[in-house]
Amino acid sequence: MIKLVPDWTKEYVEFWDAIKRRNLLFIKLRYIAVLMLLGFGYFASLIELQLTPTQKLLILFIAVIIFLYNVAFQFIRPKLKSEAGKFNPLHLSLLQILFDLTALTILVYFTGGIESPLLAFYVFHMIIGSLILPTYIIYTIAGLSFTVITAMALLQFYSVIPSFPIRRLYSQPEFDNIRFVLVSLIDFALLIFVSVFLANKIAHQLYKREKQLVETLEKLNVAENRKQKYIMGIVHEIKSPIAATKSILDLVSKGYVGKLSEEVKAKIKRAEARTDEALEMINTILRISGMRLLNQKKFALVDIVKILRKVIDSYSEIARSKNIYIELIEKGKRKDNVEGDEKLLELVFSNIVANALKYSETNGHIQLTVSYGRKSVEIQICDDGIGVPPHELDKIFDSYYRSANLKELKTEGTGLGLSLVKEIVEQHNGKIKAKSPSPLGSEKRPGTCFKIKLPYSVKRTEPDEALLTIKGGV
Ligand code: ATP
Ligand code: MG
Repeated sequence: MIKLVPDWTKEYVEFWDAIKRRNLLFIKLRYIAVLMLLGFGYFASLIELQLTPTQKLLILFIAVIIFLYNVAFQFIRPKLKSEAGKFNPLHLSLLQILFDLTALTILVYFTGGIESPLLAFYVFHMIIGSLILPTYIIYTIAGLSFTVITAMALLQFYSVIPSFPIRRLYSQPEFDNIRFVLVSLIDFALLIFVSVFLANKIAHQLYKREKQLVETLEKLNVAENRKQKYIMGIVHEIKSPIAATKSILDLVSKGYVGKLSEEVKAKIKRAEARTDEALEMINTILRISGMRLLNQKKFALVDIVKILRKVIDSYSEIARSKNIYIELIEKGKRKDNVEGDEKLLELVFSNIVANALKYSETNGHIQLTVSYGRKSVEIQICDDGIGVPPHELDKIFDSYYRSANLKELKTEGTGLGLSLVKEIVEQHNGKIKAKSPSPLGSEKRPGTCFKIKLPYSVKRTEPDEALLTIKGGV
């Protein structure tokens, strides 16, 4: 196998991606070239060039051949693996260029040789080749092309092989005019070698710049990881004084340090609740950091319905204050074999429900539906709030993105909730999608639906008692 992969690109994913993209582009361009070739006969007759029947037949024949090998390339392309030692996308690029140059050389020969208007098309292949192939290969190809065209021109000049000039292109055939032949050959050599030199230089600089960028990004990621770990350490340290405060409050509230008035007791209870909240928050931050930095997964079998009920419960106060009805529907035979991190999944659902409440006006409706499929459980959370403009449905999962239609609602937010939700769902090998309008919506309040799919654990447990449909509301 010819060694095509430059050493500096071996482990460089972006290089392979670029080659694959370019291969696809060449395949698409080749279909256009086939059409142009078929149009060439028509164009020639339009400007009264006289193609002989042999020339017309040959152009048609070559167009069909190009079409057929292009279909074959299109078929092979997706099957190739980016491995340096095997037949890889780079070999396909080389093969494409060699096939194209062969087809082009035949076309050039039958359309006037050194006089052919198609001679300039070599430049395209030289530029394309320079963007993809190692320097020595593209210079070899350029040298070979020049040798073939020179041999063709000289053999036609000495009438060793027949010539097929396009009649009426020049006032008289020029292939037997040595000055024309020499000037055209020098022109051709300059054209292809200068194109290769320039395109090759630019391509190398671009690849190296891209590689530098990727390396810088990697360094930044390492630095960011170090910073996050440092912050994680600090957050962890904050936990100890809060936990100590909680145990002191506990002693006080239980009366170990003296009798308390009812008023003080109530205050201590509130302080205890706040320390619990703070501890929970710290634990969540540590869990998320652990998942992000160390890929730590504390997965166990989870009860999705129980988590959803807990989330609904925690928002019942806000829902009541806005007169928003929240219902939970369970569809199908319940299966209890979803594995995950209960706290993180709670965070997922509570973010979506919090959004549904935040982005709905009063007298709304939020519907949580759990459906048990064959391979995964699907949780759909729909509302009849302000909705998300269709072109923003994918963007709302990006960090710091908030959609444009929020102005009228005047809501606070950082735009971080859904990006975290997506990250957690993906850590659970799940998928999340947003849809707007929602089935609950109306013309004025289109609403939004979030659909989450979580796969069942591989160790399947037997399905629990069927609990067909429960409905609960606040
Ligand atoms: P926070 O980080 O505090 O949650 P946020 O709610 O703005 O802030 P996300 O939860 O990430 O951020 O949501 C991103 C954006 O998606 C929101 O700003 C809003 O424009 C849109 N969005 C999310 N959920 C809904 C919903 N149920 N209805 C309408 N728009 C929504
Ligand atoms: Mg939010």
